[in-house]
Amino acid sequence: MSVTITEGFLDHKVFSIVSDCADRMGVRAFVIGGYVRDCFLGRPCKDVDIVVEGSGIELALCVAKAVHAKVSVYKNFGTAMLRYKDLEVEFVGARKESYHRDSRKPIVEDGTLEDDQLRRDFTINAMAFSLCKEDYGALVDPFGGIRDLAAGIIRTPLDPDTTYSDDPLRMLRAIRFATTLSTPQRHFTIVEESLDSIRRQLGRLSILSKERIAEEFNKILLCSKPSPAFVLMEELGMLHVFLPDLAQLKGVETQEGKGHKENFSHTMMVLDNVCALEEEAGVGPNLWLRWAALLHDIGKPRTKKFEPGTGWTFHGHEYIGAKMVPHIFASLKLPLNEKMKYVRKLVLLHLRPIALVTDEVTDSAVRRLLFDAGSDIDDLMLLCHADITSKNPRKVERLHENFKRVEQKMALVEEKDRIRNFKNPITGDYIMEVFGIPPSREIALIKDAVKEAILEGEIPNEWDAARELMLRKAAEMGLKPIGPDASC
Ligand code: ATP
Ligand code: MG
Repeated sequence: MSVTITEGFLDHKVFSIVSDCADRMGVRAFVIGGYVRDCFLGRPCKDVDIVVEGSGIELALCVAKAVHAKVSVYKNFGTAMLRYKDLEVEFVGARKESYHRDSRKPIVEDGTLEDDQLRRDFTINAMAFSLCKEDYGALVDPFGGIRDLAAGIIRTPLDPDTTYSDDPLRMLRAIRFATTLSTPQRHFTIVEESLDSIRRQLGRLSILSKERIAEEFNKILLCSKPSPAFVLMEELGMLHVFLPDLAQLKGVETQEGKGHKENFSHTMMVLDNVCALEEEAGVGPNLWLRWAALLHDIGKPRTKKFEPGTGWTFHGHEYIGAKMVPHIFASLKLPLNEKMKYVRKLVLLHLRPIALVTDEVTDSAVRRLLFDAGSDIDDLMLLCHADITSKNPRKVERLHENFKRVEQKMALVEEKDRIRNFKNPITGDYIMEVFGIPPSREIALIKDAVKEAILEGEIPNEWDAARELMLRKAAEMGLKPIGPDASC
């Protein structure tokens, strides 16, 4: 028996246009996958996948003509894509797939809707709405996706050993969907049979490309509470494959009856805190701030020491952690540009604000932090607030208060000195011009002296004072101005 959808899921004009085109071409077309799932979950979804028992490209061309849209055709994949109003609609011919053991790339043949549903990853992702005239809006759900959706269950349509072995990316997708689809009202879990299969198939992960792994990590990190994905990956032994340094944070060592903080669960809390604080502040989601949260204590295992009398220490873990960031980014083929540098900077600086909490803190220490963090200071402070994970509510409150005091001090210093986006008023070009010298060590020394004097508060962050200091320093080095500056 078919269930007909009446909730307005197919109200968008594009669906009736696709239906008309398919009818004229004499082919059956369906909406399939994420859009159907998200309709039932009440999640906004702007990506529509249309599967057609025939040529996806031809149907796309017909629809594009009807709505005067531009269509992108991917001949090699047999797919086509067009934008219509707020939707991105992708068309593909129904296919039957079989796999070689050493590749995620299937051997593809034309197939029916049923063949196409069988190659899908999860029952909740295999549901389709019919766009055929005779049963427009009927839900085609051969594997009980709607039941699994209601129960919050991630299950494969085929034997999980087949589904996961054919394409091991699905193991990571299972974890991603279990995490990103979960809400406080409905928790998603992966069925035990699937988890057992994943444990058996871990060896298959080696054929995944780093880019696809990173893409899944990024999607996980962008959800409102990412930690369950990493906890599950750790439990299943996947994290050791993808991000061994993060897996190393797990566990507590004890000596002389003293244990240290469990750094993995702490990191998980910090990550979720960052997401919650972003939401509270109405900012983000900032993917790279979330990476910084994930990696902020990554240097701890390498710096861990037990010092008799003192206990466990992790001295310098921020420096070691910052050094590890580019290697971790490279290992996942994440960008090595300013995004990586931002993460590295936050990891490096994440302990600095706490050092400013004391009453005697000098303006120059505040100025230096503002200088080092630059325009990322607000993100750094958000990370610091998120890093407070004590179980003692009084301590938590006190630490947040301390950070607020630091933020007030920063606001005062900033108002006075405008260090936040500090640019040395004296540039190398200017020094060369005034003294008629070629690029040389002296230039760096003069620039550095000016920057240091401003940060130390010896001179104000102003042009005249900076220029005067430049002339004095240069004179000490035996440099004389030339041209119009010669009289200075
Ligand atoms: P989202 O777009 O939120 O990531 P989605 O379910 O739409 O979720 P897509 O990657 O856009 O995921 O894929 C669209 C559909 O294609 C899925 O719903 C699923 O049916 C199918 N699919 C995607 N990737 C795979 C895969 N690796 N194995 C099997 N089916 C897949
Ligand atoms: Mg999608």
